[in-house]
Amino acid sequence: MLHSAIISTLGPSSSSPEVIKGLALAGSRVFRLNFSHGSHDFHKKCAASIREVESDIECTLGIIMDLQGPKLRIGRFDDGKVSLVSGCKFILDLNPDVGNSTRVNLPHPEIFNVISGGAHIFLDDGKIKLKVLENDGDTIETEVIEGGILSNRKGVNVPDVVLPISALTEKDKTDIRILHDITADWVAISFVQSAEDIMYARSFIDSDVGIIAKIEKPVGVQKLDSILEVSDAVMVARGDLGIEMPFESIPAIQTRIISMARDHSKPVIVATQMLESMLNCHIPTRAEVTDVAFAVGCKADAVMLSAETAAGNYPVDAVKIMAKIVRKTEDDGLSFIEVGDNISAMSRAVKAAVEKEGIKFVVTFTETGRTAIEISNSRLNARIIALTPDLNTMRRLSLVWGVTSIMIDEIFSFSQMRQVAQEVLFKHFDGVKGDKIALVAGIPFRSSGETNVLHIFELTCDSIS
Ligand code: PEP
Repeated sequence: MLHSAIISTLGPSSSSPEVIKGLALAGSRVFRLNFSHGSHDFHKKCAASIREVESDIECTLGIIMDLQGPKLRIGRFDDGKVSLVSGCKFILDLNPDVGNSTRVNLPHPEIFNVISGGAHIFLDDGKIKLKVLENDGDTIETEVIEGGILSNRKGVNVPDVVLPISALTEKDKTDIRILHDITADWVAISFVQSAEDIMYARSFIDSDVGIIAKIEKPVGVQKLDSILEVSDAVMVARGDLGIEMPFESIPAIQTRIISMARDHSKPVIVATQMLESMLNCHIPTRAEVTDVAFAVGCKADAVMLSAETAAGNYPVDAVKIMAKIVRKTEDDGLSFIEVGDNISAMSRAVKAAVEKEGIKFVVTFTETGRTAIEISNSRLNARIIALTPDLNTMRRLSLVWGVTSIMIDEIFSFSQMRQVAQEVLFKHFDGVKGDKIALVAGIPFRSSGETNVLHIFELTCDSIS
C-alpha cells in the first residue's frame, strides 16, 4: 500500500465511470471535484460514479469538494484582447464598459478599498505584472512592469494586500447546498486569509465534513499557525501561491507548511503541476518525478493531480506513474523532514514502541478519525489500521498518511476491542502467530476525550476459530 495518498481531480478527461474506476485501480484513493469548473449536475454524476466504483472495487474512497472562493477577474475588451507594453500606463476601474488598450473594468470594489501606491497587481496567472501608481477609490492607475497579451476575464492576484472579503462567495454558498448530494468528505476553502475564514466556513457549512485550508496567499502563509489551529487539513496550493509569491520561494514554503501541519497533527496535501507535462505526454519529466518524490520524502499525507487527470490526455497513466514514484520513494526510505517536537505524547509512545518492540500492526479504534490521524502523524514504520463503525470516518481517513480503515460494529469493552483487532488482522492483513500488535484507543468508548490507552500484545494463534 502507498503511505502518501494520491488525489485525482475529475474533469472532462475523467468523468466517465470507466475512467474513474481506472484511476482508483491505479491507486487514487481520493477524488477532487473542482467547483471552479463544471455544473452541479456534472459534479453530482461524478460523485455518484465514485460511490459506485467504491462499492464495485470494495475500496473506501474520499471526495473533496474544492470551492472556487474569491477568484478575482478583470472584465472584457472590445476586441477580446489587448497588448500591454512594459513601461506604459494602464488603468483598472469600476466602470463596467468594455475595455481597450488604456483601461479595463475590475469588478471588485474591495480591491479599490485597500490597494495603494507601490502594491503589485498580477494578471493572467502572473504573466502580466502591474505596479500601482495611484488609487483614487474607483480608478487604479498602474505602470506595466511586465507586458503581454491580456484577454477577457483573466485572473487577478493582489499579493501585497489583505482583501476585506469573505472566503465564501455567493457562488460557494450555492455550491455548498449540494455538499450532501455529492457525499463530500472534505471541503477545501480557497484563498484563506485568516483563521476567521475557516471558522466562518465551518459555521456556514454546518456538517461534520473535514475542512481543508488552501494556502495560496502570502497572508495565509504568515497566519498559518492560527489557520492550522482551526482547520482539519491544509493544502499547499502551489498554483496561486506561485503567482502571489516568488516561485523560487515555493520549495521552502512547501517544506514549512508540511512541517507545521505535522506539528499540529493535521493532514497536508501538496498540489498542482506535479506531473504537468503528462497533460500531453505519457511520461513525466525527470524534474516532475523528483518533485513528487520530494513531497513524498517530506511525508506529505497526499499528493494531488489537477489538470493531469481533469483535462489531460493520459489521466490513468498519470496516476499509475504517480503511484510508481510514491511506492519507490517510500521503498527507498527517502526522508527529508524529521518528526517535529510537538507531536503528542501518545503518538511518541506508539512510535517508540514500534521501534523498540518490532511492532508490525498499530490498530486504532476511532469514531471521528482523530486518533488515527494522531498516530499517523509520527509516520510509523508499521501498518496503521483504523477500526471504526463510521463510514464517513473511513472515507475521510483515505487522505491520511499510511492509514487503512476497516468498518467494525460498535465496541463496548476492552476485551472485545482486543478480540476484534485480532479478527481483523487475520481476515484482512494475513496476521500470524507471533505478530506484535499495538492497540491504541480512547477509553471510555464513544466519549470525545483523549487517546489514552496503548496496549501491546502478540497474536497467540494463527486464526480465530
Ligand atoms: C492551486 O492554486 O494550486 C490550487 C490547487 O487551486 P485551484 O486549482 O483551485 O486554483
